[in-house]
Amino acid sequence: MKWDIRKIKEWKFYEHPQGITIPEAGNAHYYPTGSWRSQRPEINWDKCTHCLFCFIYCPDSSIIVKGEKVVGIDLAHCKGCGVCAEECPKQAIEMLKERV
Ligand code: SF4
Ligand code: SF4
Repeated sequence: MKWDIRKIKEWKFYEHPQGITIPEAGNAHYYPTGSWRSQRPEINWDKCTHCLFCFIYCPDSSIIVKGEKVVGIDLAHCKGCGVCAEECPKQAIEMLKERV
């Protein structure tokens, strides 16, 4: 079966493929995936050199950058994967357990 994404609003339920359908690229912004997190990254600003490695590697685009400097973390979307802490060359990011 071939799907025509342009007609997604007219699809019957049985016409949807198994799994999920993402009709719009770049829609992660609308889903606050931060609620999945069990650990949160915390930046030590004394160690951070604003190299932006964390920004490049973050799979959720959750590192907030302004004027070519890291200014914070978007905790509404950060899933707490720890990639930023792993890749930071200055060990400036610590993963802390979320409180429940
Ligand atoms: S990778 Fe580390 S040093 Fe580089 S901007 Fe991020 S927190 Fe700062
Ligand atoms: S923990 Fe993962 S999702 Fe959160 S800011 Fe770091 S790399 Fe991005």
